[in-house]
Amino acid sequence: MGGASRQARLGPTGLGTACLAGVLVLAVSSHAAAYCRTNTCEQDQDNPNCGPDPQTGCLTGGKSLFWNRGCFSFSVHAAGSPRRHISYEQATETIGAAMAVWSNAQCGDAKLGIDAVPFPAVVCDQAEYNTDGPNANIWVFRDDDWPYPDDGRTLALTLVTFNVKTGEIYDADVEVNSYASPLSREAGATLAEIATHEAGHIYGMAHSSDPHAIMFPNYSTLTGISAELTDDDQAGICSIYPPGRGSKSCDATPRHGFSAECGRGVSGCAVSPPCRSQSTGWTAWVAAGLLLLVGRKSRG
Ligand SMILES: [Zn+2]
Repeated sequence: MGGASRQARLGPTGLGTACLAGVLVLAVSSHAAAYCRTNTCEQDQDNPNCGPDPQTGCLTGGKSLFWNRGCFSFSVHAAGSPRRHISYEQATETIGAAMAVWSNAQCGDAKLGIDAVPFPAVVCDQAEYNTDGPNANIWVFRDDDWPYPDDGRTLALTLVTFNVKTGEIYDADVEVNSYASPLSREAGATLAEIATHEAGHIYGMAHSSDPHAIMFPNYSTLTGISAELTDDDQAGICSIYPPGRGSKSCDATPRHGFSAECGRGVSGCAVSPPCRSQSTGWTAWVAAGLLLLVGRKSRG
C-alpha cells in the first residue's frame, strides 16, 4: 500500500491522471501482474457502471480505447531538444523505434494488426485536439519549463483524446520533460526508454502492475525499462489489435487532416491542457505520466 499512496501523491495533477492512480492502487492490491487498457471510465465518472474489475483491478464499465483504423501517424517537433542536444533526426529515429516496439509485436504467429506511420515534423508545441480543424499526433520536448505541478518527477506525459461513447482514439500527444530530465541513463531514463513507455499509452495501454512491464508507471533507475515487450505488454497490445482485425485500411491521416501548426481560428476550444475542463461533445482526454521512482540527481 505504501507504493500505492506514493503513486497517488506523485501523480501529476489533472482530471484523468487522478483516476489512473486509483486504477493502479487496485491493480497492485488485487493481482500480481497484469496489463490494463485505458478505459473511457477515466473520464466518465458519472457512469454508474464504471469501477474496478474485481479480478484484474482494471477500470471497466466503459469502452476500452483503441485506434479504429489500420494505422495512425506520429510527428516529432522540428526543434528536437536543444537543451539535451537531441536533434529532430535523432528524436525521430528514437521515437520511431519506440513506436515499432509495439507495432512489431507478434501475436501468435502473425503480426499485430496496426501500424504507426511517421508524418512530417510539426511546429505546433501544444498537446491539443482540434474538434473543427486539422490535427497532428505530436511528440514535443519541454526544454524551457515543465508546466505541471508534480515535483518535477514526471518524465513525460501522454494526452490521449478519445470518443467517450465508443473509446475510439482521435489524437495522442506526448510531452517529454527535457527541462528536468537529462534523458540519459546516468542521471535517469533515456529517451528511448521513456518513448517506449509513452508509446504504449498512445496505442491505448494503461499502466500495468507488473514491475517488469514497459507499462509499469514508475521508472526505476536500477532496472530501467525493457527494450522489448514483456509477456504482459505483449498480451495487452495483442488484445487491442489482434492480427487481421476486420482488415482495417491504413490511412494514417489525423482527423480533419494533418497540420504541422497548432489550431488557428477554429471555433470552439481545442481539447488541450489550458481547456482541460471543457471536454467538448463526445471527446475527452486522459493523461498518463511516467514517474521517476528512484531519485534523480538534480542537475540544471
Ligand atoms: Zn505511463
